[in-house]
Amino acid sequence: IIAKAKDLKKHREALPIYTARDIIIKEVKENACVVIVGETGSGKTTQIPQYLLEAGLAAHGTISVTQPRRVAAINLAKRVAEEVGTPIGQKVGYSIRFDDTSSKDSLIKYMTDGIMLRELLSDRLLLRYSVIILDEAHERTLRTDILFGMVKSIQKKRADMIQAGRRDIQPLKIVIMSATLDAEKFSEYFYNAKIMYISGRMFPVKILNTVEPQSDYVDSALVTAFQIHQDEAPGDILIFLTGQEEIESLEKLIEEYAVDLPPTVGKLIPCPIFAAQDSATQQKIFEPAPHGTRKVILATNIAETSITIPNIRYVVDTGCHKSRGYNAKIGIESLLVEPISKSSARQRMGRAGREAPGLCFRLYTEDSFDQLDEDSIPEIKRCNLESAILSLKATGIEDPTKFDFMDRPSKSGLLKSLEHLYALEALDDTGALTEIGKKMAAFPVDPPYAKVLLQSEKMECTKEAIEIISLLSVDTIFSAPSSKREEANEARQKFMSLDGDHLTLLNTLRAYESVKGDRDWCRENFINSRHMRHVMDVRKQLIEFCERAGMDPRKSCGHDLEIVLKCFLAGFFQNTALLQPDSTYKSILGGLTVSIHPSSTLFGKKREAIMYNELVFTTKHYIRGVSALESAWLSQAAPKYFGNRHA
Ligand code: ADP
Ligand code: MG
Repeated sequence: IIAKAKDLKKHREALPIYTARDIIIKEVKENACVVIVGETGSGKTTQIPQYLLEAGLAAHGTISVTQPRRVAAINLAKRVAEEVGTPIGQKVGYSIRFDDTSSKDSLIKYMTDGIMLRELLSDRLLLRYSVIILDEAHERTLRTDILFGMVKSIQKKRADMIQAGRRDIQPLKIVIMSATLDAEKFSEYFYNAKIMYISGRMFPVKILNTVEPQSDYVDSALVTAFQIHQDEAPGDILIFLTGQEEIESLEKLIEEYAVDLPPTVGKLIPCPIFAAQDSATQQKIFEPAPHGTRKVILATNIAETSITIPNIRYVVDTGCHKSRGYNAKIGIESLLVEPISKSSARQRMGRAGREAPGLCFRLYTEDSFDQLDEDSIPEIKRCNLESAILSLKATGIEDPTKFDFMDRPSKSGLLKSLEHLYALEALDDTGALTEIGKKMAAFPVDPPYAKVLLQSEKMECTKEAIEIISLLSVDTIFSAPSSKREEANEARQKFMSLDGDHLTLLNTLRAYESVKGDRDWCRENFINSRHMRHVMDVRKQLIEFCERAGMDPRKSCGHDLEIVLKCFLAGFFQNTALLQPDSTYKSILGGLTVSIHPSSTLFGKKREAIMYNELVFTTKHYIRGVSALESAWLSQAAPKYFGNRHA
């Protein structure tokens, strides 16, 4: 044990951040807010809380460190507990949803930003904390952005109380930590806080792009890993994938292929890392590979800046991630696989050069790299403002128009969203959150979809509601290659519902399930099987959410599918249009002339009223995801909305 403690001490003192220890302590003591920027792996997350603890900054409260990801919170807390030398849950603890190891005595507490927001509800001044470290600030998740504004105002409130003579209140220190250099924005927001740059070590990394775009990046990652293993010098491989299923399937493939390696080549050991995993398995990624073997770490973008894995010389970058907790189509969290930003690609590359010169294999072309966005857009700018408002209201911010956003949404946008939330019955006449609104805030989908799910419980069609929402989460489940458009259209007739797209999608899903997602069947029927797998993934997650919310996700309306359309109308009453005498459709909101998109089942058809999932403007206002309604349903669906309109 003593030898281990000595090792840990040596490790701590060898980290790049160690030379800045005293100055960090001094700056945090002297300033209310400090911004610290440092290369991934320099020691920010594990060391700074300990420095502040050693400097006596936990004397009047806990030092908290927030993380966007659960796995990171757990993993880092365990590591720091070990370095501090007490079992996890004593001096050092963590708190994530459904798992809280921290105790009253915890001096350092790692937690997800979601938990911190929840604690705010019962401790409005966060009095149990002396220092709040907002880590991974560069990720700009909606929750971190809200936290920025909240802790900023709490710090001011506490300072004002102290000024007014309250002896029982202590000041709050804020530390912002980021792995990317663009820290001015954070500094400006926190009263021009001092920015400290921690220099890391970085060896050169050679980048190798593919010449051709790859159709299946899991497959190319497999091939690349074995090439590295057979041709390159020792050093572990880190492969960036998008989620647990991909990680597990690549793990299996590697194990299968490794059997065929010539006996002269050492073993290649896959080490997956993802959320739902026991900690012994997770610790394996930090332990050196046995002599003569090579590890291949299979990770999501958690390995980009949150967790540093030692001994990586080779990075394999698939160029994709699950969009940072947000799928703009239905506003669900962490689902759609999307291209990463240039800044992410550079971070991934950097992971190969921490300890020695490295190689980075990008499984995409140089052209594709050039087309990537420079940075990912902050969630608050991408996401539906209505979800942001619900989150704010749920954390006790009564007037979101007065909230101190780092990136401020427009006032008119905010007001429009408040009106819509009122019509959805999420807010009452005074603008306060209703019971429905509280439930909607807890759902990880945009408010209209959340309303559909809540309504489906009453109408007993939760199964169908979940299925259709999942189907709407991808651009389209149909594929229509231009050379075979007619064949594709013909294939689609089989699934066609006269009521429109919602039920056509549902029919297609049923058929897909009856053949167990067979790929040949998909090809013959012009179904995009990759998108379909996403749909199944979303469905699985929605089922879990509904179960957690105490609903029965299996409740089905059987063949009475009209009910499902009524249920959708409860969330999408704003997306409706009425047939005009001149055979055009006019939207109820805003009175736009809208055209049914040619990809819709109802293209060229006349129905008295229609509901649509989205409005896209190209040459004119097209509506997609269209179903027919009876106009009498409208006022029943949203009395607050249509009631006001008639008055
Ligand atoms: P930063 O926050 O600046 O990216 P960290 O404080 O997370 O850096 O990491 C500092 C060092 O601690 C890294 O070298 C990392 O490999 C090591 N480390 C972190 N967690 C563990 C762990 N669970 N086991 C072994 N080493 C770890
Ligand atoms: Mg860190």
